[in-house]
Amino acid sequence: MVSNVDLESVSRIIDIPSDVRQLLERPEQELRVTLNLVSGGNLIRTDAYLVIHSSVRGPGKGGIRMSADVDMAETGELAELMTYKCALLGIPFGGAKSGIPIDPRTLTDDLRASLIQEYAHCLDHYLKTGLYIPAPDMGTDEGDMATIYGYTHMPESVTGKPPRVRGIPGRLEATGRGIAYVSQMACSDIFGGKIADRTVAIQGFGNVGKWAARFLTESGARVVAVSDVDGAAYRRGGFPANELAECSVADLGRLHEPMNRDDLLELPVDFLIPAATGHVLTGDNADKVRAKVIVEGANGPITPEAGQMLDARGIKILPDVLANAGGVVASYAEWRQARSGDVLERQDTFDIIENRLHQAYRAVKEASAKRNLTYRTASHIIAVNEVAQTMIERRWVA
Ligand code: NAD
Repeated sequence: MVSNVDLESVSRIIDIPSDVRQLLERPEQELRVTLNLVSGGNLIRTDAYLVIHSSVRGPGKGGIRMSADVDMAETGELAELMTYKCALLGIPFGGAKSGIPIDPRTLTDDLRASLIQEYAHCLDHYLKTGLYIPAPDMGTDEGDMATIYGYTHMPESVTGKPPRVRGIPGRLEATGRGIAYVSQMACSDIFGGKIADRTVAIQGFGNVGKWAARFLTESGARVVAVSDVDGAAYRRGGFPANELAECSVADLGRLHEPMNRDDLLELPVDFLIPAATGHVLTGDNADKVRAKVIVEGANGPITPEAGQMLDARGIKILPDVLANAGGVVASYAEWRQARSGDVLERQDTFDIIENRLHQAYRAVKEASAKRNLTYRTASHIIAVNEVAQTMIERRWVA
């Protein structure tokens, strides 16, 4: 398994029992199932993957990624991140993830619904026992979560559902909301002032990127560039809020300046927010980054080699386990609502997100200052320690 969290370097800073390391180095479960569908008289078959990295702190929580190139290794890497993200945020879930290696753009609505139903059927045991609780990730959305709920009839079996389908208002926006909030906290610490007029470039204009752009613009930041898989758009003064809400990247490129997709990563901005996919900043391009701060909207957008290069250049990185955790915090609120019957308002969801992110950010900042560590290493130390202590208290290790 490719690891985002380097247990070797974490164990040089805090004492991690070797049995804990052994348990964390390999996921608890890796499952591959085959989804079978008949469409237009043809049989369509595809794999689906589920990895439960650790359930020591609770049931496996993590989104479903649907993208042509997702595989077991990537699913495992993302599941592992979820273990640490939930631990850092103090949420009683373990880490899991699933993947369906299909390009969602090739599916009709009907085929997509059948595919998700077949996915739920194949993972029936995991979903109905609550061993795995999915949510949206790249390529899946709240409609897919509604389909899973339609299969299980258990509102607590899946989060990220539309508010009318036993979801909560504010979940759709949650990850972007959290990114904007973490960026604001970091802005006042790093630049000593509010985020108003700070420049932002966002890679990926899906659920996470779009909402982050809207909330940052609401707080006065200037979102000067956005991209999706097909291209990028630029506007020196920042895009107007209404255009960010209504337009695609292609539309923004037509209205303003189109740009080469990957040039966005090299813009001289205050904040660069990679919010698309993993491993986009690597040893090959990290030296070209001119942003002052990087906020990891995506999971694992910076390779370890690129991370070292960026750290050496003094570029601050707000790591994925902290920066994009608004989504899983809101998922936890949705799961609690499903179990209690409470009804949350949108502002309640935002308050819960901000409260949890504020606490986690403060803990990371303190650990970073105390031990002179990057925010990434400080986050990992807190998270690994939480997981290790849980393993000890549960007597999973001596
Ligand atoms: P999405 O499918 O809604 O959007 C992905 C966007 O990225 C699309 O606009 C796509 O065109 C674009 N994209 C893909 N490859 C690109 C490339 N090479 N360059 C530029 N743009 C590219 O996905 P999402 O839910 O917004 O998730 C995005 C990232 O955020 C993923 O890494 C995901 O794991 C992470 N994340 C998502 C959530 C959530 O709640 N959805 C929570 C935490 C983390």
